[in-house]
Amino acid sequence: DEKYLGFFSLVADQIATSFSDVHVLEEERKRTKALAEIDKAKTTFFSNISHEFRTPLTLLLAPLEDSLNDPHTNPENKVRLDVAHRNALRMQKLVNTLLEFSRIEAGRMEGRFSRVDIAALTEDLASTFRSAIERAGMHLHIHRGEISGDVYVDVDMWERIILNLVSNAFKYSRDGEIVVDIQQEGQLISVSVSDTGVGIPEDQLDKIFDRFYRVENSGGRSQEGTGIGLAMVKELVKLHHGTIRVESKPGEGSVFTIHMPVGKDHLMADRIELNNT
Ligand code: ADP
Repeated sequence: DEKYLGFFSLVADQIATSFSDVHVLEEERKRTKALAEIDKAKTTFFSNISHEFRTPLTLLLAPLEDSLNDPHTNPENKVRLDVAHRNALRMQKLVNTLLEFSRIEAGRMEGRFSRVDIAALTEDLASTFRSAIERAGMHLHIHRGEISGDVYVDVDMWERIILNLVSNAFKYSRDGEIVVDIQQEGQLISVSVSDTGVGIPEDQLDKIFDRFYRVENSGGRSQEGTGIGLAMVKELVKLHHGTIRVESKPGEGSVFTIHMPVGKDHLMADRIELNNT
């Protein structure tokens, strides 16, 4: 009998444990759902506000530009107007980024994929930063491997992806070099952007892709930013059926690597129409 008793209490224990496991899982699920809802509400809120900001910003920019272009404006005022103008432009850029991000999130952004020379395209995009990088005493290197497969991207989205990664590499470095590397690895294209900058603490590596997340006192070149760039990059890479990951060491630098499939099978499966195939 004792044997049975032991057995039953073991079973009872097991059942109790599973119930509490289920309970914990359920709590966790609720928490994740609540967090996702808060996140969504945050984006909707920013998106609504951004819409409201758009018109007044346009109405602010037009007369500023008129006064700046007016030969009768005295030079001292021009300097002040120029500051106002640059900041209004910055705000307009932020507002547009927020609106674009909420469009991507809502799944309302469809790709227009076309076959590209991915190495040349990526090199062109990264090179737009060359003069700024060199003026700051840093170096930009671009390594292009042999690409034999057909690669399809949405050119506007790819531009956003590369510009965001290279501008971050520059923004969060004080010196050293930025390397952009494009290679084919079997059926995958790998594009990495590495820097010798401030790096990212290990416990925050998975958070930097969250929207609005920024590493505090990261000590980069400039503290400007919204924390939206990488969240957007991640979404855009996902639309290309790709993945993005980061490796980093504080004080040594960071490497962001994108992998995406060669060919168009994955796009056909999504019923995405291709341009100039
Ligand atoms: P933003 O640059 O506007 O803050 P991002 O979403 O592009 O927003 O980046 C989120 C955060 O990740 C940044 O605030 C920064 O702390 C960190 N980060 C991004 N890229 C790098 C990098 N190359 N080196 C160091 N930290 C980076």
